[in-house]
Amino acid sequence: MLSFSSSGLKSSLLRSFGAKGLQIEEQLLFEYPSCDGRSGFLLEEEEVKCKKPSSLGDLERKTPIDLPCLSEPQVTRHYTRLSTKNFSLDHGMYPLGSCTMKYNPRLNEHVAALPGFSDIHPLQPLSTVQGALRVLQNVGDALLEITGMDGVHLSAAAGAHGELTGLMTIRQALVNSGDIATKNVILIPESAHGTNPATAAMCGFETVVVPARKEDGCVDVECVRDLCKKHNVAAIMVTNPSTLGMFEKDIKKIADVMHENGGYLYMDGANLNALMGKAKIADFGVDALHINVHKTLSTPHAGGGPGAGPVVFSKALSGFMPSPNVHRLKDGTLHISEHPHLTSSGRVKQFHGQFNVLVKTLAYILALGGRGIRQVSEDAVMNANYLLSRLTKAGMTPAIPGRRCMHEFVLSDKFLKDTGASTMDIAKGLLDNGFHPMTVYFPLIVSGAMLIEPTESESLETLDEYCEILSRLMHEAKTDGEKMHHYPSFTPIKRCDEVLAAKKPILSFDDIPK
Ligand SMILES: *Cc1c(COP(=O)(O)O)cnc(C)c1O
Repeated sequence: MLSFSSSGLKSSLLRSFGAKGLQIEEQLLFEYPSCDGRSGFLLEEEEVKCKKPSSLGDLERKTPIDLPCLSEPQVTRHYTRLSTKNFSLDHGMYPLGSCTMKYNPRLNEHVAALPGFSDIHPLQPLSTVQGALRVLQNVGDALLEITGMDGVHLSAAAGAHGELTGLMTIRQALVNSGDIATKNVILIPESAHGTNPATAAMCGFETVVVPARKEDGCVDVECVRDLCKKHNVAAIMVTNPSTLGMFEKDIKKIADVMHENGGYLYMDGANLNALMGKAKIADFGVDALHINVHKTLSTPHAGGGPGAGPVVFSKALSGFMPSPNVHRLKDGTLHISEHPHLTSSGRVKQFHGQFNVLVKTLAYILALGGRGIRQVSEDAVMNANYLLSRLTKAGMTPAIPGRRCMHEFVLSDKFLKDTGASTMDIAKGLLDNGFHPMTVYFPLIVSGAMLIEPTESESLETLDEYCEILSRLMHEAKTDGEKMHHYPSFTPIKRCDEVLAAKKPILSFDDIPK
């Protein structure tokens, strides 16, 4: 077990950082001893001396800017060491349910880094970026092919932003038809991702919760019908497969109920890993759907980005979607511009969205082709069911017993009852064993939920190893559950108070307790 302390070891620079083996307790760059004149770069003498009259008036800085004086190797090593502190998909399995972390093929990074993609600027003349516009057009076409929908808008920067884009478009359609005054409610199933109600509220709607059906946690059509009678429903937001990993079999009926009532079906398609190449979203009666390309089509989003959340629309909504969008002019060249008609819901992002992520999306789709895309879904579902079956046999408790799952599944903490150990202890124990924990305590409707999604990228050997580690932790919980609260032991940061960290984040260097 490694445990570091930086006190009492000031005799050498390295040891004062706390270094054992090849692990180094990393300080902030500002905490390194700064050495006057030491620098990673040299400015030309003239640049240093150049004293133009300032156009900033008295805003010009009079004191030194107080950056530490460090050499290039110091800075390089600092950031390289920091980069190894975070668990990543390139380290090992990262089975976050709902937030899908699948392996990112290196080929996609290579393609996205090509100068024709990485060294261009959105303000360049369009004649010089025809290839980039073609990428955007091809991504859009591929997403329409996969979903069977009518229109696509690419510039949303993430899943939640895609939701916002979709609901803004629904809102625009209601404004156009004059129904906005009466339709003010969005129905949200109890198992929904927190971004769904947040999005609805940001668009000025009220939210009403659809309770999860007892047997399978799914949305009940009759319940939706009743809610449509009681409220002025503009739309329902349904995640399919649900965050419990269950396919909403009644999705088409839900769409019909919405349409009979003059409302829309928004599908949260953050994760298409079970559906791609298997089911056409348009056949569900969906009106708007965002696709987290960073969950389904390469570019895993560790560390908060970058991602992209393109949105596809039904015929009923396509005329109201945001701009700009790529289209072909009469002379055959591609153009990207604002919508010609005034019904559009406007812009949702400066320039054209997360271009680099969309390049990777296209690379992933083209590398796999139609059959490969279908196999992604099949393998993702197979891997999830393999884990679900093995873990259930080992004694863990599925949230929906006796059912197959789609690309992910949920365990409840029933198997930990009276052991003194919790879902959190299992999650932290996984860290010590080289696996990233699953998503924990979500969805909220399952006690101590563990939401597991292996994705298509893991081998049978890795899945088996994961099952064995989880089973070992379960046995440890049953024999010595109280002793699991010390996990993790081997990570640079041990168990921390995550609630406190979330509620009282320290956002300024000056506020760090000395
Ligand atoms: C991840 C996720 C979102 C939000 O996507 P972000 O890219 O994180 O904004 C929305 N809904 C579901 C079901 C998700 O899993």
